[in-house]
Amino acid sequence: MKHIGLVWFRRDLRLTDNPALEAALERCDRVIPIYIHAPQEEGDWAPGAASRWWLHHSLEALDASLRERGSRLTILEGESLATLQHLVERTGATHLFWNRLYEPALTERDSKIKQQLQGHGLTVESFNAALLFEPWQVLKDNGEPYRVFTPYWKALQRRGLPQIPLPAPKSIGTTNSELQSLTVDALNLLPVPRWDSGLHSRWEPGERGAWQRLELFIDDRLLSYIDERDIPAAEASSTLSPHLHFGEISPRQIVAAVEQLSIGNASTGLIGNAEAFLRELAWREFAHYLLFHFPHTQAQPFNPRFEHFTWAPPEPKRLQAWQRGRTGIPIVDAGMRELWHTGFMHNRVRMIAASLLSKNLLYPWQEGARWFWDTLVDADLAGNTLGWQWVAGCGADAAPFFRIFNPVLQGQKFDPQGRYVRRWLPEIGALPDRYIHHPWQAPAEVLHQAGITIGRHYPAPIVDLKLSRTRALERHAELKHLN
Ligand code: FAD
Repeated sequence: MKHIGLVWFRRDLRLTDNPALEAALERCDRVIPIYIHAPQEEGDWAPGAASRWWLHHSLEALDASLRERGSRLTILEGESLATLQHLVERTGATHLFWNRLYEPALTERDSKIKQQLQGHGLTVESFNAALLFEPWQVLKDNGEPYRVFTPYWKALQRRGLPQIPLPAPKSIGTTNSELQSLTVDALNLLPVPRWDSGLHSRWEPGERGAWQRLELFIDDRLLSYIDERDIPAAEASSTLSPHLHFGEISPRQIVAAVEQLSIGNASTGLIGNAEAFLRELAWREFAHYLLFHFPHTQAQPFNPRFEHFTWAPPEPKRLQAWQRGRTGIPIVDAGMRELWHTGFMHNRVRMIAASLLSKNLLYPWQEGARWFWDTLVDADLAGNTLGWQWVAGCGADAAPFFRIFNPVLQGQKFDPQGRYVRRWLPEIGALPDRYIHHPWQAPAEVLHQAGITIGRHYPAPIVDLKLSRTRALERHAELKHLN
């Protein structure tokens, strides 16, 4: 009997190190690569606007790579199970392969699909392509999941990070031309009206773009990663996060590339930098791990004490000022504008901007997480949830609530000459370095010389940093009494 295999691409939009594709090619005489657009199945977390832009281009790139190997991507839209059942009937498929996703709504959907289709005699196989380890493989001695990063990271290191990625197949065979496919355009993923020029100039979605970024990082940035990763103006981190989210590159491939380089380079300072970078990659792993083991944290605090915390109801004007980079606090505004224009924000600035919202303004972290979800090209339920809960103080391994980022001091420490702030806020660019992070405190003559009137050219701060800090600490003290 001829074996026909469907390979269901989801967030594994690459040909190399793709175990589902590899298995299909090994076990089947004919392989049909498919993509089913079903955002409604992602629960409350259907892709936001920036992610849809990325997805559009990533699907195009995947289709082009498949065509280079004699195949193509069949794109469909609709409920996944019904679409798969229809495809099985149409093609006579005997096998279905996919790489796993770990978000709660999707694991639930996928297990149902597996059960249903296996019940109808189809061979269904799923694989790990997105993580270094499956979340259920790394547990404490008592069988419970880790809740703190450092012991988790040590457990990963003890196991040894896996690093034997699979190569890309040379050929995938037939073009499956009898199957009708939608065009990527028909999925209507691109914004209307078009606002995506900033995204275009910064990113190249797809497997090739991912490898270019990894190579650039390894050649030019890895050696100074520890010193510069916190400096937003330096652009010293890998910016691989959107490529990782869409599975255009795998963590295994990244580990392999970094470890390969480290061999024989012990004296160059590379080892320390490589380890620091791999530790960040392990934070990504930890984020997925936590979301898998504690699925409620996508909406609820990880720390149950915070269920009693009273957040302030967001005032639309202030919330909008934060979203659009008009808070009057330069490092926050620069970050929020970087996000708006490019779909990305530097990690340090994400923490500062999130702290202003969740601590100084005391707005619910979920409000900020929603905005990031819509605007980040790397919007990822696990990473975003972990990041927001960490900053808000209610997450696993979180920054304690009393540690409230002072955005002026953070700006002065990590952007001492205001290079990052000036890049995104040209209207205050003429201020001397001394006042660039707190223009509202600049003497009148300094403001005059720089041609700035606060409230006219640049807003006054939407929140008093000192008073709001005291208020947040008081709220925290109230929370303590609840125990
Ligand atoms: P690098 O420094 O080059 O790190 C390499 C990889 O490690 C990253 O690509 C990323 O996959 C992972 N990583 C690095 N730092 C973290 C971290 N703190 N937590 C989890 N993974 C990490 N990351 C997302 O991928 N998606 C999100 O939606 C997201 N939302 C965030 C929201 C907030 C409020 C905060 C504080 C952080 C968030 N992060 C998120 C984590 C982090 O900011 C980004 O992963 C990082 O900025 C990506 O840049 P990079 O690829 O240059 O990182």
